[in-house]
Amino acid sequence: MPNSVRVRFAPSPTGPLHIGGVRTALYNFLLARKLGGTFILRIEDTDQARFVPGAEAYILESLAWLGISPDEGIGAGGPFEPYRQSERKEMYKAYADELIQSGKAYYAFDTSEELDAMRTTFENQGSAFQYNAVTRVKLRNSLSLSKEEVDQLLANNTPYVIRLKVPAKGEIRFQDIIRDWVHVHTSSIDDKVLMKSDGMPTYHLANVVDDHIMQITHVIRGEEWLPSAPLHILLYQAFGWDAPQFAHLPLLLKPEGNGKLSKRDADLGGFPVFPLEWKDPQTGAISKGFKQEGYLPEATLNFLAFLGWNPGTEQELFSLDELIAAFSLERINKAGAKFDVKKAQWFNEQYLKQHDAKELAATYLPSIEAEKGEAYVHLFLDRITFPQQLGQMVQEFSEFPASYDEAVLTSKWNAETKQALELILGALPTCTHWHAEEIKQCISQCLEVAGIKMGKVMQLFRVAMSGKGAGPDLMISLELWGKDQVLARLNKALEKFPNI
Ligand code: GLU
Repeated sequence: MPNSVRVRFAPSPTGPLHIGGVRTALYNFLLARKLGGTFILRIEDTDQARFVPGAEAYILESLAWLGISPDEGIGAGGPFEPYRQSERKEMYKAYADELIQSGKAYYAFDTSEELDAMRTTFENQGSAFQYNAVTRVKLRNSLSLSKEEVDQLLANNTPYVIRLKVPAKGEIRFQDIIRDWVHVHTSSIDDKVLMKSDGMPTYHLANVVDDHIMQITHVIRGEEWLPSAPLHILLYQAFGWDAPQFAHLPLLLKPEGNGKLSKRDADLGGFPVFPLEWKDPQTGAISKGFKQEGYLPEATLNFLAFLGWNPGTEQELFSLDELIAAFSLERINKAGAKFDVKKAQWFNEQYLKQHDAKELAATYLPSIEAEKGEAYVHLFLDRITFPQQLGQMVQEFSEFPASYDEAVLTSKWNAETKQALELILGALPTCTHWHAEEIKQCISQCLEVAGIKMGKVMQLFRVAMSGKGAGPDLMISLELWGKDQVLARLNKALEKFPNI
């Protein structure tokens, strides 16, 4: 076993990478960075039937967006090239043959019709068929047939698969870093296919062979692979190799916490479960992506890191470097992690506030002059969750109010406040420097002369300006509207407000 930690993210390009897969990649990446190890990206594309064009590029783009960069593998190169399993096809055959030679695996010639018939027979008897130590003797394989028959079948190029000869009796035990001891009896495992009749390895064989060859020290992957782990341990034993350590990550649960998170939940809830937008190449259907929804990469990373891990302190905001410093497999929870979209939004709001206002203005308010755009960003930044809301905010801000908040009018519109608004209307034209501070002074002075407290009038003044009882900083808003527009709004309000 090499000394330094080597971990891998090994997605299959069968569609868009699910956000749970991104979390798996992130945890692998964090561990590698934390321990000075190597993070490898391997593409597991041996299942040709499930191959989806564009899926590999999508995986690469998603990881690049978040800065989860592989040290080795696809896109980075390395000593064990190629890192795409379909390009390693020939090699797996040699390993399967090795197991045949050592008696740990065998040829099976059963056709799919024969296996279907077997399945039906079992079903009719009320049980489920498994290709295993009990049934293999009655099926057509190199364990049940004579050597001559087998040689003949092979010589005739009869299609076959190679199956693992799972021992009839025995217990498989391994200690998962997250789930602790796992015990499984071999009788619950069937003689899994290792090589398919098309000459391609199955996921199980390719995965174990590659993890061994690539000197992987820790297999960190989703909990859905936990049922495969005992089989993988058997394979390591069959080859006589040391198994890596396993860490199976908790499931992602629905926002309410009841059951596994699905794409359906996302569609119903209107939130993304994919890092980037994805267009299905067959149906053209679009799935939402975190990026396109307006999540910042820093916020997405921080949110994902907390889906199943916690630092053990109160701190919630972590930069990537801070995550690397704080991360450990020991602090990953066993229990499923609720996919709390509200929390993702909260993270986004926090990171938006730290974001460069100039850059946000340039990207999201491109048609507005730079200085003014930046001022808008500052005005609205703590009122938005996603940066693309800025445009809408500015749009609404620029429109004259179509109606006025009834509740505020009922409670605040009276002879005194009417007089106050008229005083403001008279005073503002004399305000020479149209800056928030001076405007405020101008207003407070004119009210003071009449003995009216500013606090009594301001909410009503806001309604007169914007129609709404609450909103962003009023004095800065006045500055941004400009004197003419403020006066016009005030005139309109005095005209529209009920007669006193
Ligand atoms: N190819 C598997 C997947 O798509 C990898 C599972 C593993 O990490 O072993 O998730």
